[in-house]
Amino acid sequence: MSGSIGFLEPRADVLSRRKAIVEDLADLLPPDALIAEPRRLVPFETDGFISYRRLPLAVALPRTTAEVAAVMKYCHRYGVPVVPRGAGTSLSGGAIPQEDAVVLCLSAMTRIVELDYANRTATVEAGVTNLAISEAAGPEGYFYAPDPSSQLACTIGGNIGMNSGGAHCLKYGVTTNNLLGVKMVLVDGTVIELGGKALDAPGLDLLGLVCGSEGQLGIVTEATVRLIARPEGARPVLFGFDTSEAAGACVADIIGSGIVPVAIEFMDKPAIEICEAFAHAGYPLDVGALLIVEVEGSEEDMAAMLASIVGIARRHGVKVVRESQSAMEAAAIWKGRKSAFGATGRIADYICMDGTVPLGQLSHVLKRTGEIVEGYGLRVANVFHAGDGNMHPLILYDANDPEDAAKAEAAGMDILRLCVDAGGCLTGEHGVGIEKRDLMRHQYSQADLNQQMAVRAAFDSGWLLNPSKVFPLEGRPRP
Ligand SMILES: Cc1cc2nc3c(=O)[nH]c(=O)nc-3n(C[C@H](O)[C@H](O)[C@H](O)COP(=O)(O)OP(=O)(O)OC[C@H]3O[C@@H](n4cnc5c(N)ncnc54)[C@H](O)[C@@H]3O)c2cc1C
Repeated sequence: MSGSIGFLEPRADVLSRRKAIVEDLADLLPPDALIAEPRRLVPFETDGFISYRRLPLAVALPRTTAEVAAVMKYCHRYGVPVVPRGAGTSLSGGAIPQEDAVVLCLSAMTRIVELDYANRTATVEAGVTNLAISEAAGPEGYFYAPDPSSQLACTIGGNIGMNSGGAHCLKYGVTTNNLLGVKMVLVDGTVIELGGKALDAPGLDLLGLVCGSEGQLGIVTEATVRLIARPEGARPVLFGFDTSEAAGACVADIIGSGIVPVAIEFMDKPAIEICEAFAHAGYPLDVGALLIVEVEGSEEDMAAMLASIVGIARRHGVKVVRESQSAMEAAAIWKGRKSAFGATGRIADYICMDGTVPLGQLSHVLKRTGEIVEGYGLRVANVFHAGDGNMHPLILYDANDPEDAAKAEAAGMDILRLCVDAGGCLTGEHGVGIEKRDLMRHQYSQADLNQQMAVRAAFDSGWLLNPSKVFPLEGRPRP
């Protein structure tokens, strides 16, 4: 893709010292923990936002907090930018490197440090995958709630970087609501701990600040997260509607009634067809929009909640109501939803947008989204966390056609502006990265941005940590 998205001018002094920097880093790390040959750097040149690529100066793969601290201390001393990275699944370009940066990849730090069932916490290293936490705690009847669709691959460090969410966050909250503490290495190599196992901590909420800071405040090496006891039962139910607008209005009414299901996921007709063809999940194909609503608890609790939800859905003309009858059916329903991005990738190139709107605006924004994309002569599939108002229009285009790509990018930016104008926000869970960096001006005034950059500078005055991300490149303070 083309467009205004780019990187800061590389630091010439760093590029000119590349060989010496690599040799110095090699002294700080075990032999297999540093990658510098261009061929082996290729897997790190981009992330889930594959439209942009840059080879980094080198990749460090530390295995301990002490090694992370040593790399940071060195890079700080010699003014070398650092791009933190987990699994590199970011969809906003958050982990894309720049050529003068060392990628500090935490994916080798995969130790589950402690499962503390008395306190219902798990302490894990930053490279542990999201799903691995639930798998480790599962035998004792616990799980980690935030469940990004990428949970098989993405790391807890990346989840903290992006304040990630998932289908089941409607009831349990996103990463920030489930994070209790972190061990973090500051830009100068100092190791600090924020939070812990207790519910709250005195003073400023620095943990809240770190969660969603996109690798700009420090390198998280360890996290303590909340474990949740598995409910007695859980059941996804499919609700089919004639139109997206009816489904959107139904979501607003369910939430407005005070009922909190575990999840409310939305798919429009193109998304239903794409996911069904891939996953054979049993989705009805004769509807214009589908909601997957999951309730949990005892049989009586689930029955009562479902009766209320069905009543609301009927008022919006629901056409199909289908309860999953077995664990296998339930798994198929979720497999369909969670593989939506991959299934879409089978039929076309796509960009996945991520904006959030107040629930009362869902119907309007869905309708306008369709109109915007059609206006560019492209197609869109919508599949998203409707209960949170977190929209994910997938704009289908041909990546081999530069004109098509430019149109897709422009349509995506129009949709995000629409979300902001509807009272929402540029991101629900994928972060700002480089993708939405320039649109920050649509959400915030320069005075707001200056305040945010001042907070960032309190952690990293030299702009060494993930420097090309989040804030527009123009109008930054000179380090
Ligand atoms: C198919 C697919 C489905 C997805 N579904 C969802 C979804 O449902 N919900 C959702 O929220 N996201 C989703 N994502 C986006 C992505 O998976 C998340 O943003 C995830 O949290 C990124 O984790 P990661 O380990 O890949 O981090 P990376 O992509 O490597 O990094 C993400 C950001 O965090 C920073 N970072 C990484 N590790 C650290 C660390 N240890 N310390 C400090 N900063 C760090 C990076 O600098 C970067 O800014 C999806 C992505 C894909 C490809």
